[in-house]
Amino acid sequence: MELKIAIVGGGVAGLSAAIYALRANADVTIFEQYGLGGLTASLDKIENFPSYTNVEGWQLADNMVNQAQALGLKTVYEQVVDIRKTDKGFDIITSENTYNFLSVIIATGTKHNKLGIEGDFIGRGVSYCATCDGNFYRKRPVTVAGNGNSAVNEALYLSNIASEVHVINPADTFNADEILVNRLTSSENVKVHYNCTVTALNGEDKLQSITVLDNDGKHEIPTDALFVAVGAQPALDFLRSLSVEKDKAYIKADDHMQTSVEGLFVCGDVSNGPLKQIVTACADGAKAGHYASAYCRKVSRGK
Ligand SMILES: Cc1cc2nc3c(=O)[nH]c(=O)nc-3n(C[C@H](O)[C@H](O)[C@H](O)COP(=O)(O)OP(=O)(O)OC[C@H]3O[C@@H](n4cnc5c(N)ncnc54)[C@H](O)[C@@H]3O)c2cc1C
Repeated sequence: MELKIAIVGGGVAGLSAAIYALRANADVTIFEQYGLGGLTASLDKIENFPSYTNVEGWQLADNMVNQAQALGLKTVYEQVVDIRKTDKGFDIITSENTYNFLSVIIATGTKHNKLGIEGDFIGRGVSYCATCDGNFYRKRPVTVAGNGNSAVNEALYLSNIASEVHVINPADTFNADEILVNRLTSSENVKVHYNCTVTALNGEDKLQSITVLDNDGKHEIPTDALFVAVGAQPALDFLRSLSVEKDKAYIKADDHMQTSVEGLFVCGDVSNGPLKQIVTACADGAKAGHYASAYCRKVSRGK
């Protein structure tokens, strides 16, 4: 019986889907453009994944990778550029090859939004990942733009490294977990600028200051780095040929993580679930892996 399943994206959602599908005896291949573990692998401390009081992101991701690989996971390190429906299932088209599968699970997560004024400063002071680049600014002044959980997490992480952390919050409150906000606002080296937006980046070869606009007008804040954490959007650029129903740009899923296209499933941050967290991505992945395997079994029996 042919139970060939492709999973596009090797973050925690894709890995959880793989674990469930492999245990249902499916032949599972993950397509991953960078490294297995996805966004989780780049996170600092995770304090809300059940069974761990405090775990580093790479450790949690590594545990899942090892678990899936021990069950027989195959990985193709290629970027998926298109998916096409065929009479045998789906063609996965990567930058290098075309592969055929009976069922596909999309688990490509999100990509970060930009401010639109970054220009040439990306990599020369502007970053989208404090855990990746924070260490370059040890004992230097840095800034975080944003007011959600990501921005608060980034600022908290940087507060242990940088001399001072400015948080440019476009609203008068945070849109983040209260426990994290309290921790941030009580940090001695953190200054939150409310109702404030970044309007310009200044510097010669690298970032030296930012211009911000608040209720009192324009000001300049000296800073060596600007960490941009202003939300994200689903990573779906590759979905060129298939017409899949969306809900506010995220792929719409039913209770079984089935999309509007038969045999195509979705899980994790790229789906329209309301809470974008590791535990919900894993739960979505479990359902997608389970029901994609059941779908393959049903289709194979019918052949
Ligand atoms: C700063 C920050 C802090 C966070 N802290 C927490 C926390 O403390 N607790 C918590 O529960 N959650 C936290 N989150 C949220 C959590 O990280 C996400 O919910 C989770 O990582 C989503 O997993 P995913 O597998 O859906 O997507 P991702 O982890 O984004 O994985 C998607 C994968 O798909 C790959 N991919 C994308 N497009 C393609 C393509 N075309 N071809 C091949 N591969 C592709 C990507 O390379 C990536 O590896 C945080 C998020 C951020 C930004």
